[in-house]
Amino acid sequence: MVEASTGAGAVLRLIRGGATTRTQLALTTGLSRSTLAERVHALLVLGLVTETHGASTGGRPPATLIFNPTAGVVLATSVYSDFCRVAVCDLDAKPLIEHTVELDPDAASDAVVRAAALEALALAGVAPERVWAVGVGVDEPPAHPATPFAGDGPVLVDRHVNLLALAEQWTHWREVDHLLYVFVGASIECGIVSHGKVHRGARGAAGGLGHIRVRGYEDVLCPCGNTGCLEAAVGGRALAEQLTAQGLRADSAADVAALARNGVGPAVQAVRTAGRAIGEVLAECVNFYNPGAIVLGGELAEASHHLLAGLRETAFARSLPMATRDLIVSPAHLAADAGTLGAAVMAIEHVLAEAYVDRTANGH
Ligand SMILES: [Zn+2]
Repeated sequence: MVEASTGAGAVLRLIRGGATTRTQLALTTGLSRSTLAERVHALLVLGLVTETHGASTGGRPPATLIFNPTAGVVLATSVYSDFCRVAVCDLDAKPLIEHTVELDPDAASDAVVRAAALEALALAGVAPERVWAVGVGVDEPPAHPATPFAGDGPVLVDRHVNLLALAEQWTHWREVDHLLYVFVGASIECGIVSHGKVHRGARGAAGGLGHIRVRGYEDVLCPCGNTGCLEAAVGGRALAEQLTAQGLRADSAADVAALARNGVGPAVQAVRTAGRAIGEVLAECVNFYNPGAIVLGGELAEASHHLLAGLRETAFARSLPMATRDLIVSPAHLAADAGTLGAAVMAIEHVLAEAYVDRTANGH
């Protein structure tokens, strides 16, 4: 039983979770018929729920309440140094349109991103007033996030890796309460999703996996000023440099991945070694955080099973048995461009959060 003060937001959550009749909702919430009717009415007025009456085949079939993802749209934006991707999505994070615009790395400005957002809305035939919220993915969140779109809705900004983690959890790992998404590309980063929410830490710096010290690389200097950082030791950029020194052509994490995928010996070895080093650091994270799943994404993870194999060797060997019982270690299901989906999910979960829906239902 939920408390009798259950608001429209909580009722919406139950309907999104599959409760489809007033009888089910009344049983779950303990609300009186009249109060429940008020809550449902508010959701019907907002358009967030539709009520259908099935074809009568003798007797009166109960009305079915269904979440209506077309009640509004959110704008999802991923901003990188040389391009940005904008998606106009419904409230199920289904893109109505995706629009990519190249950015000049030296002259990228908020105005360009804003223009791209307005173009995407025009292409989707959606009036700016219909945007409920904007989600933005960036490399590093600025202290004062700029508004990429001048609407009235809230603008939420987060790092790409956190949004990748959120997208992955939302689409494939709903049953996992504690998920670590490890991105292994040029950089090594980690997104933490706990009970469906991104864990950012006190100052947004949680998940700084790349700057944890790893054994055996004490002489490697990291741009952060420390030595022996995981990313400086075995990140995609570091591996590309190592392979270049061995006479191979590798300028990026993607190049390293391609070489490993083609079975080029030194590249396979480098990726496997990287996997072991990452696994060693993750073993400590597993002991400390006890995740239900570790999901591996990024160019190097996508490219080859060698990274995962190396990681498994050390992550399991060095973790406490209690923490690794039932631990899932898996490649990510979504590609590295799924951050835009994560930005949509962030915006949707914000405007469909219980308290937010309650306020909207009460006219703020
Ligand atoms: Zn560092």
